[in-house]
Amino acid sequence: MYDVAKIRADFPILSREVNGKPLVYLDNGASAQKPRVVIEAITQAYEMEYANVHRGLHHLSNLATEKYEGVRAIVARFLGAPDSEEIVFTSGTTEGINLVSYAWAAPRMQPGDEIVLSVLEHHANIVPWHFLRERQGVVLKWVEPEPDGTLDPEKVIAAIGPRTKLVAVTQMSNVTGTLVDVAAICRGAREKGVPVLVDGSQGAVHRPVSVAEIGCDFYAITGHKLYGPTGSGAIWIAKERMAEMRPFLGGGDMIRDVYRDAVTYNDPPMKFEAGTPGIVQQIGMGVALEYLMGLGMGNVAAHEADLRDYALSRFKGLNWLNLQGTAPGKGAIFSFTLEGAAHAHDISTVLDKKGVAVRAGTHCAMPLLEFYGVTATCRASFGLYNTRAEVDSLVEALELCHELFA
Ligand code: PLP
Repeated sequence: MYDVAKIRADFPILSREVNGKPLVYLDNGASAQKPRVVIEAITQAYEMEYANVHRGLHHLSNLATEKYEGVRAIVARFLGAPDSEEIVFTSGTTEGINLVSYAWAAPRMQPGDEIVLSVLEHHANIVPWHFLRERQGVVLKWVEPEPDGTLDPEKVIAAIGPRTKLVAVTQMSNVTGTLVDVAAICRGAREKGVPVLVDGSQGAVHRPVSVAEIGCDFYAITGHKLYGPTGSGAIWIAKERMAEMRPFLGGGDMIRDVYRDAVTYNDPPMKFEAGTPGIVQQIGMGVALEYLMGLGMGNVAAHEADLRDYALSRFKGLNWLNLQGTAPGKGAIFSFTLEGAAHAHDISTVLDKKGVAVRAGTHCAMPLLEFYGVTATCRASFGLYNTRAEVDSLVEALELCHELFA
């Protein structure tokens, strides 16, 4: 049974107050809180098990290396990946997507070649492709969602033309919570011989993932949204694609031999991991992923679906609340504006006074906000520890906003 009270007790920060009120943390889309097991693992790593990895022959270096390298297999298991050698450690999704842009895409794109993107994307899955547009004349082909935020896989597949070299698409919008049928997109793209990069930053947090079932080529995750430390993350890269990649960052660890006039590289995945990595961060992410697998991602998804349905039922009565994105089966992420003149920043300030933490602004998704004709929204994003009572607290605080600003 999914015991949310017991789960909440695993997260020390959830028992604190903010502005004299119990914290209602609804900013999980930006970053999630950390369970005690992760905090303790970080402390343990620094207090008793810390040294640099890979290069030492002493006890602590071997211990740190064993723990750090062990995380690759945990990530592979979490993502349903057949082989842990297909996991490249990164500092987060942003680095993962930039790696693909520099190491895989840049060398194979000619002027006029195309990348197909959706308007749902986070800037992390837009700007690395703009670099190729600016520097190499690559054309970005945008696919719009439906007004409710749904992304039709057929529209994405139809946008793939003879010059398309990559499809880059999110599995879940960080603004609307839209869940994208990335497996259908991958099937269509594969028929046309085009690789697919999936931004799993939000998708992997809220439901079970299997890259084998999705059938993508690249799948990026970011540890801090997965209840792990900041600066941790990974990207799963299909072996075939990894073999096509040139190194991105140069330095220690990614090389085999360095001479005055030549250099040879380490085998993948280390070929793509230059310099001292986020050792403790990745160890912490491994513990976070084990924690999630212990809860069962299917159970997390069911709990959050209940919160979504409950929130939608409570929002129904608020005819002054405009939701951006109401796609069926979406995640428990709600972007909204209020009728009247209240700016998102004012709304979030009032909510904060009530202890309710939400995000206000563009959510690093300016093309999507432009699609909805708004310059800023508030976003309440739920996580595995949130409750129906917290939905009620949000609604109460919104009613106060309406009174103040109407
Ligand atoms: N993609 C999506 C959908 C996101 O929500 C985020 C973070 O908000 C990112 C990418 C970037 O993640 P990070 O900043 O951890 O690299």
